[in-house]
Formats: sequence, structure tokens, C-alpha cells
Amino acid sequence: MNVYQPYLQSIEAQQDSMVQMLSIWSAINSGSHNILGLSRMVETLASAFNVLGGNSEIIPLKPRTRIDSLGNLIEEPCGAALRITKRLDAPITVLLGGHMDTVYPTDSSFQHTTRINDNTMRGPGVTDMKGGLIVMLKALEALEASPFAKNIGWEVLINPDEELGSPSSEFLWVAAAKRHTCGLLFEPAFGDGSLVNARKGSANFTVVAKGRAAHAGRDFHQGRNAIAAIAHFIVAAEQISDAHTGITLNIGHIEGGGPVNIVPDLAICRFNIRTMNPDDLEEIRQKLHNIIEQIHTQEGISLTLHEQTFRAPKLFDEKHQQLFSAFETCAYALGSKLQSKPSGGACDGNILAAEGLTTIDTLGVIGGNIHTSEEYILLNSLSQRTQLTAYFLMKLANHEIEVNFA
Ligand SMILES: [Zn+2]
Repeated sequence: MNVYQPYLQSIEAQQDSMVQMLSIWSAINSGSHNILGLSRMVETLASAFNVLGGNSEIIPLKPRTRIDSLGNLIEEPCGAALRITKRLDAPITVLLGGHMDTVYPTDSSFQHTTRINDNTMRGPGVTDMKGGLIVMLKALEALEASPFAKNIGWEVLINPDEELGSPSSEFLWVAAAKRHTCGLLFEPAFGDGSLVNARKGSANFTVVAKGRAAHAGRDFHQGRNAIAAIAHFIVAAEQISDAHTGITLNIGHIEGGGPVNIVPDLAICRFNIRTMNPDDLEEIRQKLHNIIEQIHTQEGISLTLHEQTFRAPKLFDEKHQQLFSAFETCAYALGSKLQSKPSGGACDGNILAAEGLTTIDTLGVIGGNIHTSEEYILLNSLSQRTQLTAYFLMKLANHEIEVNFA
């Protein structure tokens, strides 16, 4: 442990400056739809990560598609991603990743940090996951300051659309997954410090129902009610949820209709499906199509199903258990016990694992109430989790950790 001590100590000494940096980053609104804010954030990150001396690249991304409230497929602009690489020709290389976007829009009342007590700070994105980006940066700084750095290469990848399911950046993860020994993502840990092991897969769908408009008084029977049709769809689709298999189907959003004297000709429903078993999704798709076919037996009604984003389930297989136990050993040496449990939430770790890269994806900070205006971080987790990753990287570079995850 002694050879690593100076570099780990230097992390502890930076605790206050990490908190300061986090406050500044949190105050930059980088909601997934705020293109201007995302552009400020990517510039801020690029200049902060500059100290690492890697090759830095801001990568513009293609627009994503979305069904709008008129049922049309439209394009929405996406922010840019940041990639930094160093020594990719080293025998061991690691992918370190995260996202710069948050769920908070420009008109949210939650725009900056508030100190709750000595160790707790509230703020947009402090835990999910600007705190994690600082952990990543500072861990790499410690590695680069150490003599072990020369044995190991790395790639940092930070995307701007994770909270939307990474529709425009997914290809970057897919490509990066092929290049490395293992993947480390800095999504938040659970509030009790546990890491996530297995993750459910997640898919987002939109179904658009079209009927026929008519005057509700004069020509009611000429009309075909799109809201009624989508209501039938919802009632049938809800049966797909199954407490035994863990499959869930959540109707998240519904829109359509107008004045009550018009039979509505358009209704749109958005929903999310999650499952633990990679094979379930094909079966679920089939069930959804069967439901639609049944509704189509009504003359004048048509339903169209659009699949928006899909992340396969992430299994805690043998390789993932090995990588986790390497972190467990590091944590133990640093004086803490690392635990893990499954999560129903999906993240970019699902994509990496599906592409064959063994990935631990919750190496970021500890906090809670993420995706709400009560999001908070436990501040001491900034330096603690930075030490954990820095220690892991140095040991990996120093051949003290077996590398057979691939
Ligand atoms: Zn996140």
C-alpha cells in the first residue's frame, strides 16, 4: 500500500477544491434538452480534463428522433460528447465514462447548490453525475502523477444524452467497448454506498392511435375515437407487467383530444418496459403487436408502435464478479467495506456490458433523491470514491490486479 500512499493522500488534500468545482459545475444547467448549457458544460469539462495531457476531442452528435404531440416523427438537436484518450497502445487500457446531462430543464427552480450541513450539499446533478465526473478526473490526475501511469492507457467518454437513453451517443459506447480491458462508469452509488451489480434492461416506446374526427352531437357514430382506442391498448398492455418475472410496463405519458364536442382523431401514449431477462423483450414486442392487431379489427382505427431506445439487461456474471471483487479488495485496504445489489435502473453500463466490456458502473459519489429537486451528495464520498478508483487504477497498472475480465 505504501507506494500508493502519497498519491492517495494528495486526493484527500483536494477535498475542498473538489466541492468548489462541483458547485460551479452544478450551476451550469445541462439538462438534456438545453443545447446552449450542454455546450458550456462540454467546454468546461474539456478545459478541466486538459490537465491530464491526453488527446481531447469534442464530438458533435446527430439529432435524435422523437414523436411529437401531433404524432409526427421529428428531429431534436443533441449536445456534443467529449472524448479524451491517452496511451491507447498500452497493454492494459481502461474506459472511464459518464454523462454531462441532467434531468433538470432550464426553467427548473433547481439551478444551484445549497449546503445542508458539513457533509451534505443539495444541487442539480451533484450526484447524478457531476460529482462522478470529478471523481473520474481526480482519480486520473492521481494516476498520471504516479510512476504507474506509463503501464496503462485510458479513454474518457462523456455523453450529453444519457438521461434520454443515449439515442445519439450509443454508437460511441458501442465502439469504445471493443477497445478496452474493462469499463468504469461513474454513475452514483446507492445511498448506503453499495454499488449496483445487475441491472434490468429498459426500452421506451410510443404508440400513436389515429381515428376519425366527428362532431360529438351531430355525427358521433361517424367518428372513431382515438382516445378510446388507446385506452383499450393501455388496459391490455398493462397485463404485461409481471411481479414473478420482474417485467414491468409503465404507462408514463398520455396525450390527445381537445374540446369534448369533438370525437378525437389522435391520441399518443408513451411507456417504458423493464426486464431482467435478455430474451423477454422479443416476447413482449410480440404481445404488443398482438394487442394492436386486435384493436385494428375496429374499422377506422390504426395504431402505430415506435420503439425509441433500448438497453439490454446487465448481468452480474463471473467476469463482473471478478472486477467487483478487485474493487472490494481495494476498498477494504482503504478501510471500507464495499457491497453491491441489483437495480431496476438502466444506464450506459448496460450498453457496454451488452457489447462484451466488463464494466462497473456506479463508481461515482454517494447521495440520494436523484432526479428530484432534493438531489444531494454526501461530500466526503468525493475524495473517498476518488481514492478507490485511483487505487484500483494504480494497482492495475502495477500488475497487482489480475486482468482476465476480457
Ligand atoms: Zn446518471
